[in-house]
Amino acid sequence: MSEASELDEIAREIRSCTKCRLHMNRTNAVPGEGNPKAEVMFIGEAPGENEDLQGRPFVGAAGKVLTEAIENFLGLKRSDVFITNVVKCRPPNNRDPQDDEVLACSPYLDRQIQTIKPKAIVTLGRHSTRYIMEKMGKQFRSILAERGKPIKADLGYGEVIVLPTLHPAAVLYNPNLRKYFEDDFRTLARLLGREKDKDKRPSIFDFLNGPRARGKEGDSNVLK
Ligand code: URA
Ligand code: SF4
Repeated sequence: MSEASELDEIAREIRSCTKCRLHMNRTNAVPGEGNPKAEVMFIGEAPGENEDLQGRPFVGAAGKVLTEAIENFLGLKRSDVFITNVVKCRPPNNRDPQDDEVLACSPYLDRQIQTIKPKAIVTLGRHSTRYIMEKMGKQFRSILAERGKPIKADLGYGEVIVLPTLHPAAVLYNPNLRKYFEDDFRTLARLLGREKDKDKRPSIFDFLNGPRARGKEGDSNVLK
């Protein structure tokens, strides 16, 4: 099955999912969206009000911060990357997702990752950072301790760089944090070989072990 149809199938299952209590109050589940062959995947926490109403991730104020960073620091469009969340239905009053909700929902995220096979995963905020770090067998301390430090990992399909950063909503509510968020996007741009400076340093992907068996090297020119 193609990546696109696999993602469609996962999204279909999410929209009819009743595996946790969050299905009860949702208007729309929010499976995620973007390029099925994205080289970069962004993982947030859970849908908010706007996302629940539209069924799309990061379409509110925090989404504007994220979208602008993707465009301005990476020179990419939203449609070039894949954007999703750990939990696919909105928690009431935007409360934190609970452990049992993350446990119930995360298999969908895992399947999205295994389908897309991104080269880089950016975790936005502590929930997705903790989830991915624990999956890699690493202890999560705090988002301020982990942010900006790329972690080379193997999630089962080849090497991937995980870069934790702040949640864009945190940046909105605390402007002092914006510099960290922007620094992390500069780090990401450098890792992807997409920094704006003329004298580019080699990308870390130049050192990874050759092309992965994903049959798309020829057409994955998005980041080249
Ligand atoms: N915050 C998130 O974590 N995800 C969204 O999709 C929107 C806001
Ligand atoms: Fe299913 Fe996830 Fe929605 Fe819970 S949050 S109902 S597990 S899709």
